[in-house]
Amino acid sequence: TLKKMNFIRLSTTDGEKKGADIISEEIKQTGLEPVYEYFKVPCYEIVKASLEVLEPNRMSFNVKGYGYSGNSAKDGIIADFKYVETADEIDLIDAKGKIVLVSSLGYETYERLVKAGVAGFITPSGDYFDDPKKTDLDERMLRKGHIQNGQIPGVCIRMKDAVNLMKSEPKKIQLVLEQKEDEGDSKNIITEVKGTKYPDEVIVYTAHYDSVVFSKGMYDNAAGSAILLELLRYFVKNPPLRTVRFIWCGSEERGLFGSKNYVKENADKLDNIKLCINVDLAGPVIGRDTAIVLAEEKLCHMIEYMYKEIGHPMSLRHDIYSSDSIPFADKGIPAVNFVRYGAPGAVSCHTRNDVIDPISAKSLEYTASFVAQFSDRIVNAYMFPVAREIPEELVKKIDKYLLKKQLKTD
Ligand SMILES: [Zn+2]
Repeated sequence: TLKKMNFIRLSTTDGEKKGADIISEEIKQTGLEPVYEYFKVPCYEIVKASLEVLEPNRMSFNVKGYGYSGNSAKDGIIADFKYVETADEIDLIDAKGKIVLVSSLGYETYERLVKAGVAGFITPSGDYFDDPKKTDLDERMLRKGHIQNGQIPGVCIRMKDAVNLMKSEPKKIQLVLEQKEDEGDSKNIITEVKGTKYPDEVIVYTAHYDSVVFSKGMYDNAAGSAILLELLRYFVKNPPLRTVRFIWCGSEERGLFGSKNYVKENADKLDNIKLCINVDLAGPVIGRDTAIVLAEEKLCHMIEYMYKEIGHPMSLRHDIYSSDSIPFADKGIPAVNFVRYGAPGAVSCHTRNDVIDPISAKSLEYTASFVAQFSDRIVNAYMFPVAREIPEELVKKIDKYLLKKQLKTD
């Protein structure tokens, strides 16, 4: 499956559609029918983005425009330049009307820029030592958590260019940004194997199949999509007592659009869902299987005992995980995320280097086998063991997460 999905599957593009076709094909080979759930995702197109130093010496830089950061006037914004470091109060004195270079752009930082009345912003991307032939200049966008405070046109620049820009001691600079905002189509692919004894009790499996720009998303998350297909084949051969429903989610990388859409469109059917099992990041040869439990603490203990019992070394966290399990947990459905993290440097995420080479079928199987054995116990349990509750401190974390991230999508 990974080899077949070895291309960029950016949300709302043909790549994402092609990814969906491959998954659908594999579902059909099991004798089941894929069901599609379509939804709209906002998208943007940068028409023009440029940055030029006008004084004291003319220089121009290669930049990428920030999605949803608005448009400059036709001839761009011409303004004084100011470096504002982390955009603290002291950095922003005298920043009004200027184009600022800021080292990073969290929601709070951005809010301070808006309040200070800056005319435009520049953020550095990547590493000073990046080889431009071997790396990509980031394409970034503002989230609703940013935009709720207002829109300022902004661009992203390579770290080396940012340093050179600073060294040139710019006075007047010109920033041009023109973009179109639109909506695109995305979809979830759903199929299920009915439970033989408790068909109305459902365990949901999720994995997103989209990737980010420039990235073939093998580790993130063709790997998880492939593991879900493997689990589906397992349950077709070994009919479960409870219903297992598989959802390959679209547009996760844009802000969990697929899973959010699922819980919204199926609001009346969520009561039947006992647990969400999400797989996001898998396959690195050098890596570590990790379970991130977004459920009662007892489930952590169960997994710990289980991996010791079967001899499958693992790390465990009792926490939320930024992936498709969040919208389910937000509706009160407990979740567990299975992740195989690459060791530092073993694999790359959200870059052109998220390729198939550092991933092996054996590593995928290794993670899949744990998820299958875990599923066997849970899905076929005599009495369903996981309580339908999420600890208070995790609920708070979800709320905090969604307060920030939901804003960007809803
Ligand atoms: Zn992912």
